[in-house]
Amino acid sequence: MAFQKAVKGTVLVGGGALATILGLSQFSHYRRKQVNLAYVEAAEYFTEPVNREPPSREAQILTLKNTPEFDILVIGGGATGSGCALDAVTRGLKTALVERDDFSSGTSSRSTKLIHGGVRYLQKAIMKLDIEQYRMVKEALHERANLLEIAPHLSAPLPIMLPIYKWWQLPYYWVGIKLYDLVAGSNCLKSSYVLSKSRALEHFPMLQKDKLVGAIVYYDGQHNDARMNLAIALTAARYGAATANYMEVVNLLKKTDPQTGKEHVSGARCKDVLTGQEFDVRAKCVINATGPFTDSVRKMDDKNAAAICQPSAGVHIVMPGYYSPESMGLLDPATSDGRVIFFLPWQKMTIAGTTDTPTDITQHPIPSEEDINFILNEVRNYLSCDVEVRRGDVLAAWSGIRPLVTDPKSEDTQSISRNHVVDISESGLITIAGGKWTTYRSMAEDTVNAAIKIHNLKAGPSRTVGLFLQGGKDWSPTLYIRLVQDYGLESEVAQHLAATYGDKAFEVAKMASVTGKRWPIVGVRLVSEFPYIEAEVKYGIKEYACTAVDMISRRTRLAFLNVQAAEEALPRIVELMGRELNWDDHKKEEELETAKKFLYYEMGYKSRSEQLTDRTEISLLPSDIDRYKKRFHKFDADQKGFITIVDVQRVLESINVQMDENTLHEILNEVDLNKNGQVELNEFLQLMSAIQKGRVSGSRLAILMKTAEENLERRVPIPVDRSCGGL
Ligand SMILES: Cc1cc2nc3c(=O)[nH]c(=O)nc-3n(C[C@H](O)[C@H](O)[C@H](O)COP(=O)(O)OP(=O)(O)OC[C@H]3O[C@@H](n4cnc5c(N)ncnc54)[C@H](O)[C@@H]3O)c2cc1C
Repeated sequence: MAFQKAVKGTVLVGGGALATILGLSQFSHYRRKQVNLAYVEAAEYFTEPVNREPPSREAQILTLKNTPEFDILVIGGGATGSGCALDAVTRGLKTALVERDDFSSGTSSRSTKLIHGGVRYLQKAIMKLDIEQYRMVKEALHERANLLEIAPHLSAPLPIMLPIYKWWQLPYYWVGIKLYDLVAGSNCLKSSYVLSKSRALEHFPMLQKDKLVGAIVYYDGQHNDARMNLAIALTAARYGAATANYMEVVNLLKKTDPQTGKEHVSGARCKDVLTGQEFDVRAKCVINATGPFTDSVRKMDDKNAAAICQPSAGVHIVMPGYYSPESMGLLDPATSDGRVIFFLPWQKMTIAGTTDTPTDITQHPIPSEEDINFILNEVRNYLSCDVEVRRGDVLAAWSGIRPLVTDPKSEDTQSISRNHVVDISESGLITIAGGKWTTYRSMAEDTVNAAIKIHNLKAGPSRTVGLFLQGGKDWSPTLYIRLVQDYGLESEVAQHLAATYGDKAFEVAKMASVTGKRWPIVGVRLVSEFPYIEAEVKYGIKEYACTAVDMISRRTRLAFLNVQAAEEALPRIVELMGRELNWDDHKKEEELETAKKFLYYEMGYKSRSEQLTDRTEISLLPSDIDRYKKRFHKFDADQKGFITIVDVQRVLESINVQMDENTLHEILNEVDLNKNGQVELNEFLQLMSAIQKGRVSGSRLAILMKTAEENLERRVPIPVDRSCGGL
């Protein structure tokens, strides 16, 4: 039987009507009241979470093994699967959740990070008088408000500017955006407004001025997607769900119903990816929430099941923060060739994207150089010619796979569903596919409703509207001040901890080690330019981080912000994790290598270093070549033709600079193309040439050598009579 998703109206009874009576101006006040009401309602149903802290992974695995039968087993720990587990467990169902990699390692950590209704969808709904599309936007806007309310530490409203380049677009966009506010109704975050050209440039000074007429600013939400996903999974664990990452479903179990004689899915064969051990997890109902991998699980159920997923890859790049204002994004919803282009501030950097290309399904999608250059070219069209958009400014890049689906029960097999699909197979496997991050909660609610109905489970209604996620309940915008005052953390670090862990930030602060300095008292950074501290590595293990990749990409977001900084932090992260998890030297080496490969292939490091391959021709003026040769020979004093770590150390010592050996090795390694442990003159000139062409920026070796040269030149020889050495 097919269970096609039915889109509901507002979940909170009477919201729309009451808002109309109150009038538009009182929407924001009403929103607060509305969500608070929902929370009170939820609180009446709930006892507190059963676990103060999520149980350890080992304890969770024991529960998975020893529970005779769960009500629901969810496969896939992305946003959708974690949402299903939370929805099910808070209705009182005995719930299990298994994820074969890390929570959020799939599409859910690789999104644009917007919590949105979809301005573009609304435009289509209106132009085509499409009621289904309209309802989809309305529902997403309700979910947007709820998510901002239940995880205020991880999400915030973000003003987004639509630049207007033709006069006729102004009323057209204005009407569209005002309708977006109107459809949001009581869930409108803040009212949109129009900006004149000069005001638009005040807000967004790097914007291309020519032909700009003005701009419209509207609001959507933005979040830290991987941390949000983790908060959902951890909340489910605290409410009693048996959740385990690195637990792969390798097969489905089936039982024959004695009454009907029909086979039905009764659990799954699971494999602990970290130990290789396999065991069965039994459940009355199994939910397939595996995103782009939906068909692989559907085929475990029925090898003839038709594929429903049409994967499409979206690449994003991360550039330095100065490419966008700190608190305003830019979006063009309809470029001349129909694509969306945006750059949004995120974690003090700028995210730009995106592409939309058919792809193969893989666990390790790789952003190509072609995709990166495509986005860079698009970005160039929007920025003033004063801003040189350089390839070298791409600090990280990633590709995510959109799990677009066709409804298997739809007559039109070619049509991609604009919404999510809940499908029930002959043997009772429930598949939830499609949808978007923003609507994970309502997707989960629909899925668990279907599970309860089809499998006759005893459970109440969904209780996740207004249910705070881990860290959200006692968070306040000023929480970070207490972290500074009570623990002696740097303000920037305290703000980061509060925005990442919410009210759990105190626990991280308690674990922070003493710096040995007058200020900050505690909180040793993992890398100097990011506020991530060593205590987060220890805490990350309590949050089920098992590998160094988990730590650099989803507990901290270093890999998504700056691959070089992530690589720099890796040795220390591996050392700290090794201490906690008893890793021997071999395991540490393995973790380091895997994490480096991850950065190299999946996070754009490869394309970055390919800018420096042997193929990079040197196009420098002869005068520049002479200048750089001179600089090189300051280090290569004995004219060997190459410099080694010893040469760099010698120069640094002569100017009283100390740098630890590991860091120096890393710095040299970035430029050492043939990996022979030394930087040859040719390699150095290639680097300088790439920097001049804007293909590489922020090379630490180049900066170090230039600074050292300046320092050496500044040193005035001390006359013998003043040297205190005497004759
Ligand atoms: C480029 C891009 C940008 C996007 N931007 C936005 C945005 O800004 N806002 C928005 O609302 N939406 C956005 N989306 C959509 C959103 O990210 C996805 O809809 C959502 O993350 C999908 O979540 P999921 O849980 O279904 O899939 P996933 O996150 O991929 O999770 C599926 C999980 O299943 C696991 N799994 C697979 N097979 C097995 C198995 N056999 N056993 C155990 N586990 C298994 C995988 O390891 C994976 O972790 C974007 C998508 C893309 C691609």
